[in-house]
Amino acid sequence: MSLYDGLKDAASILKEAGKIEEYRQILEAQEKMLEMSKKIEDLEEDNKELRKQQEIKGKLIVENNMYYIEENGIKNGPFCTSCLDSEQKPIRLHFHQDSGSASCPKCKITAHRGRGTIIHPRGTRYNLAI
Ligand SMILES: [Zn+2]
Repeated sequence: MSLYDGLKDAASILKEAGKIEEYRQILEAQEKMLEMSKKIEDLEEDNKELRKQQEIKGKLIVENNMYYIEENGIKNGPFCTSCLDSEQKPIRLHFHQDSGSASCPKCKITAHRGRGTIIHPRGTRYNLAI
């Protein structure tokens, strides 16, 4: 029997016994328990989201004003630095072949690739299609 069911049974017994004040207290306790359950659920969801964000931060690489997320030797991206820093959302940049720049479809920031040589660690693969 769950705590909630136990309170429900106790409330029924108190109501049948005419113990209205005690019955009311049990109903209040049930209500508070439901509020707390909802709060715990919300906090668990927040915690999950924060863990996910923390995990992403540990995998970030910055190159030419763009973020890449490296997992298992594969670099995904590039992502917008502004959106990821401010809203923790990895928004994929769109490349413009003619200018060599990339822009964010959300905040419209444009990142320009540097003219210098980009040095990639040996064996690193890029996955621009994801
Ligand atoms: Zn952006």
